[in-house]
Amino acid sequence: KRRNPFECEFHQAVEEIFDSLIPVFEKHPKYMQQGILERIVEPERVISFRVPWTDDTGKVQVNRGFRVQYNSAIGPYKGGLRFHPSVNASIIKFLGFEQIFKNSLTGQPIGGGKGGSDFDPKGKSDGEIMRFCQSFMQELYRHIGPDVDVPAGDIGVGAREIGYMFGMYKKLRGNFEAGVFTGKGLNYGGSLARTEATGYGTVYFVEEMLKDKGLSFDGSTVVVSGSGNVAIYAIEKAQQLGAKVVACSDSNGYIYDEDGINFETVKQLKEVERKRISEYVDHHPRAQYFEGCTGIWSIPCDIALPCATQNEIDEASAKILVSNGVKAVGEGANMPSTLDAVNVFLNSEVLFAPGKAANAGGVAVSALEMAQNSARLAWSFEEVDCKLHQIMTNIYRNSVKAAEEYGFPGNLVVGSNIAGFTKVADVMITQGLI
Ligand code: NDP
Repeated sequence: KRRNPFECEFHQAVEEIFDSLIPVFEKHPKYMQQGILERIVEPERVISFRVPWTDDTGKVQVNRGFRVQYNSAIGPYKGGLRFHPSVNASIIKFLGFEQIFKNSLTGQPIGGGKGGSDFDPKGKSDGEIMRFCQSFMQELYRHIGPDVDVPAGDIGVGAREIGYMFGMYKKLRGNFEAGVFTGKGLNYGGSLARTEATGYGTVYFVEEMLKDKGLSFDGSTVVVSGSGNVAIYAIEKAQQLGAKVVACSDSNGYIYDEDGINFETVKQLKEVERKRISEYVDHHPRAQYFEGCTGIWSIPCDIALPCATQNEIDEASAKILVSNGVKAVGEGANMPSTLDAVNVFLNSEVLFAPGKAANAGGVAVSALEMAQNSARLAWSFEEVDCKLHQIMTNIYRNSVKAAEEYGFPGNLVVGSNIAGFTKVADVMITQGLI
C-alpha cells in the first residue's frame, strides 16, 4: 500500500488473492524463497500516455490512456481495453492482476494484461469515437502485436471500437496482423461465439456448480445486473436453460418484469440502439423501472448474476440476497462483490462463483480466436461454443479440486486463485529471475 498509494481497487484484488494463497505458501516454501509474490504483484511494464482528439465542435480534448503488461510467463499479455470515466491506474492494475490468474485458469497460453482510458463513450458521435480510437492507437500500436500483447474489449469497448483501433494499427504497421486484437468483426478475423462467450460461459460455470448440488437453472428465478455485452448473453443462455430472468439494469437504474424480461427488447435497446434500459417499459408496460442500481439486489431470486461492474454488491446487498434465499451467485463482471460481500456469501449456504473463474469464457474464446487467426481458419459457432463449454467445466473442476487439496472444500475463491496461481508461479521459476 505504501508503494501504490490510493489504489484501493488494486489493494482489494491483491488482498483477496494473497489471502487465499496462504495455504500454498505453507505447503511449498519454494514460492517464498523465489520471491514469487513480490514479483507477481509488480507489473512487468506500465504504459501511460496522452490521448488528444478533436470533438465535433472542433475543440481539442485530452484523455489518459493505459496499458498494463502484467505477466507474460505463460503467453503474450492478454486482456481487454476499458473506456469509462472511472478508469485510472488502480482500476487497470486490479483488472490486469486478476487477468493473470484468470487467463491461467483457461488452460490457454495467454499472459495477463489490461488497458483503457478515462474517455467516456456515452453520448459521443460515431466520428468522435473513431477519432478517439485512432488517437489511442497512435501510441498503443508500438507496444502490442500478435505475439507481444493482444488487447480485446471490455466496458465501453465493443466491435465498433475494436474495428477503428484495428484499422489504425493496420495502417501504422503496414501489415494485416489479424491476431493483434480479439473481439474483431466476423468478416475480418473475428471468431463466432466471441460476443456471447463471457455471458454464456458464466452461465455454463454456474450450471456446473448447481449440478453438483442437484440444482439447475430450469424453473429458477434469476436477477442479472447490467445490460451490456456480458449481461445480455448471460440472460439469453439462462433463458435457454429454462430460467426466468426477472431483472436487469444499466448505470442509471433497473427494470423488473415478474413474467420474465424480453431478451430481444433488451438486446435491441442496448446493443443495437445504444439506449437506456428505462425505455424497456415503453415496450412492455407491465414491467417497472426503478432509478438507482443497488435496489436490484433486493429482488428475491434463486440465482444472482452480477454482470455490470466492480463493487456493485456491498455487504448490505449481499445480506439481503442471502436473507431472500438466493442459492447461487455467479460473477459475470470483474470483482462485482466487495470483500465483505464475498465473506457474507462464503459464510452462508450460497454457492459462490468468483468472477476470475466464472467470467473466464470471454478471454478463453479470445484465445480460440487467436488460434483461428494463426491457422487462417474459421470454426463454426457450435465448435467454438462446445470448446467454451468444455473449458468452463474444466475451470470449475480444477477450482473444486484445488480447494479440496488445500483444505477449503467448496470454496471456489480459494480454489480458483490457487489453481490459477500455481501454474504461473511454476513457470516463473522455470524461466529464471527475469
Ligand atoms: P459493457 O460496457 O458492454 O456493459 C457494462 C454494463 O454495466 C452496462 O449495462 C453499463 O450501463 C453497466 N454499468 C457500467 N458501470 C456501471 C456502474 N457503475 N453501475 C451500474 N452499472 C454499470 O461491458 P461488459 O458487459 O463487456 O463488461 C461488464 C463486466 O464484465 C465488467 O466488469 C468487465 O470487466 C467484465 N468482463 C467482460 C468481459 C467481456 O468479454 N466483455 C470478459 C470478462 C469480464 P450503461 O449502459 O449505463 O453504461
